[in-house]
Amino acid sequence: MSMRTNKLQEWHNKRIKPEEINKYLSASGKDFIDDDLIIRTLENNKNPDKKRIHDILSKSMTIETLTLDETAALLNVSDKDILEEMREAALKVKLKVYDNRIVTFAPLYLGNECINNCLYCGFKKDNESANRRVLSMEEIRREVEILAGQIGHKRLIVVYGEHPKTGIDYMVDSLKNIYDVKVKTRKGFGQIRRVNVNAAPMQVEELRKLRDAGIGTYQVFQETYHHETYRKLHPKGTIKGNYAWRLYAMHRAFEAGIDDVGIGSLFGLYDWRFEVMGLVAHSRELETRFGIGPHTISFPRMEPADNAPYAVKSPYLVNDDNFKRLMVAIRLSIPHTGMIITARESAQMRRNAFTFGCTQTDASSCIGIGGYAEGMQKQKGNRQQFILGDTRSLDETIREYAELGYITSFCTAGYRCGRTGECIMNLLKTGQEGVFCKLNAILTFREWLDDFASPETKKAGERVIEKELNEVKNKLPEFYSRLMEQYEKTKSGERDLYF
Ligand code: SAM
Ligand code: SF4
Repeated sequence: MSMRTNKLQEWHNKRIKPEEINKYLSASGKDFIDDDLIIRTLENNKNPDKKRIHDILSKSMTIETLTLDETAALLNVSDKDILEEMREAALKVKLKVYDNRIVTFAPLYLGNECINNCLYCGFKKDNESANRRVLSMEEIRREVEILAGQIGHKRLIVVYGEHPKTGIDYMVDSLKNIYDVKVKTRKGFGQIRRVNVNAAPMQVEELRKLRDAGIGTYQVFQETYHHETYRKLHPKGTIKGNYAWRLYAMHRAFEAGIDDVGIGSLFGLYDWRFEVMGLVAHSRELETRFGIGPHTISFPRMEPADNAPYAVKSPYLVNDDNFKRLMVAIRLSIPHTGMIITARESAQMRRNAFTFGCTQTDASSCIGIGGYAEGMQKQKGNRQQFILGDTRSLDETIREYAELGYITSFCTAGYRCGRTGECIMNLLKTGQEGVFCKLNAILTFREWLDDFASPETKKAGERVIEKELNEVKNKLPEFYSRLMEQYEKTKSGERDLYF
């Protein structure tokens, strides 16, 4: 064994801290996902009658998380008319909690070195054709200058492989460098104000450092909640091969004081109904134990990936109809949560997704490492994880959404004024967070239109702003004059004003 392999192995051996898993397990050593119970619950709730579904939809409207039995009943509906009623209810729930806002962000891949071997991922260790790269701090700054200074993003999700080269110190440095970039724009300046992190499960001590670095949401996807499938797809002896280390990643985050977490499942690895049940069980566990559910849920569909044949030959790939059904089921089962649909999906599916309950999306995305600075056209080949379905620019996407009546929000105020964790859960559940979000969406959209929009997009966006301002005047008159004050200041070039 060479020195380098030795060192890597040493790092590997110290990653998992059994004491940071065991304390959460039941007396008999079990975790909170009971596969047999999930399968039985799905079986026991077959053929739900219309009245039962109506009762469940009424419960969703109260913004209360459903039980596994209730979710199973929804997942067993096949009648077209009832499915349509469920979709309409999902949209109502979304409008109640999130109104007509779409929160927008960009992904930024910082490194694709990885010591794991997930059978479906192009970054896996055994993919010898992957062009491995970890961005230097200078390269990160160049990427951010484009994202914040030319495209106009305010929120990022940064993505790391699991490797000592992108360990906690690198993560902390990268967050600091991202937040430090400030670029002059047409009327003001561009800056990333919120960095969410998608990274491997971490130790409590490391998570504390991430909290102190000003992380937004901490995301870890369980990939599949089904134990046996998990074992097959994540080889034994790898860090990711430890199901429980991953399952309790969010418990450790709460312990470290990160109260804003995102969960997810990679759809296509196992039966989609089972995975939705897993997400609901996870959400309920976090709500029961910490009083706070997931701020976001991601439900990516597996995409073809370089040298990862499982990504195309899995028997569980999810077709469009079932994908729509699972989005509706998630919205109704976990009504408070933000739902993220990414540019992996086609433009048409993303439009649909907003009517099924989705609230967040990315645009102008580039998932090749270093791809923003090097030009998006070069993002092909083996430096990216998979192929995107929607490669339109942020300007085009925003124009389309504005024409459909949505306001794109770049608001990042929540976590900066302490509206996170339990506080935001309560505000979301009672619809009050919507008030702050509405006001901040208007201000941040105005900033973006003045700093980055093309003339046509500006026109479409201003029509939406006018409608929003009128709504505030009529429905929230107590906020109107302060909003207008901030709005005028924003128009004249002041930046980052928020409620
Ligand atoms: N290495 C970290 C981890 O695995 O948690 C974070 C980075 S990993 C690239 C982020 C996510 O990409 C994974 O959680 C997985 O759900 C997703 N992913 C992996 N392979 C994929 C594929 N073929 N299609 C779509 N998403 C994939
Ligand atoms: Fe590595 Fe994450 Fe890809 Fe697995 S999914 S190979 S852990 S980057």
